[in-house]
Amino acid sequence: MPQQNTLRISEIFFSSQGEGLRAGEPTIFLRLSGCDVRCYFCDTKYAWDKGKADTAENILKKIKKFKNLTDWVCITGGEPTIQDISNLVHQLKESGFLIQLETNGRIFKSLPLDWITLSPKPPDYFFASEWRKNVKEVKIVVDKNLSIDVVEKIARSFLEIPVFLQPQSMRKWSIKKAYSLWRKGIQKNLKNLRLGCQIQKIYCIK
Ligand code: SF4
Repeated sequence: MPQQNTLRISEIFFSSQGEGLRAGEPTIFLRLSGCDVRCYFCDTKYAWDKGKADTAENILKKIKKFKNLTDWVCITGGEPTIQDISNLVHQLKESGFLIQLETNGRIFKSLPLDWITLSPKPPDYFFASEWRKNVKEVKIVVDKNLSIDVVEKIARSFLEIPVFLQPQSMRKWSIKKAYSLWRKGIQKNLKNLRLGCQIQKIYCIK
């Protein structure tokens, strides 16, 4: 188990945000290790492993090396909320960063975040209701089992914000399915449904 103030990290790197409304924006990624769901379609399975333990202070130092490139830090995983990220988030805020959190939403954390991307996962697509009020966007991965009923239920829970249908790893069958679900959703008056993509896959970047 990590000691207090220590987090298990998979990687830290600078790139473009590839998904959702912030796609194309320069972003520093902090990928934490471990996940409580382990989806069969996960495209960051390498982050399920233990990773490397590091202190919040050291992580902050590494992130600051990219500060001249952007203010945005995206905390992702794995699933970042299974670790205690509170100290790190507060230190990042004190250092002037803007923070995006990508979460499957199963565990709620009250944190000073600038952008929350909620991506509920199968089989139950559960998320803690406390996230609801501050979420900026929702992403649903279009896997083989995703039904229009699940899409509709989630989209109706977030009528005020965009709900992205994100093709699974940009596979062709999933892109086709995303479009078909989007058409069906629009016919059901789900005006917040959006077609998503992963521009990191198109540009062959991390
Ligand atoms: S919740 Fe996210 S990180 Fe975890 S297994 Fe699913 S896709 Fe991968």
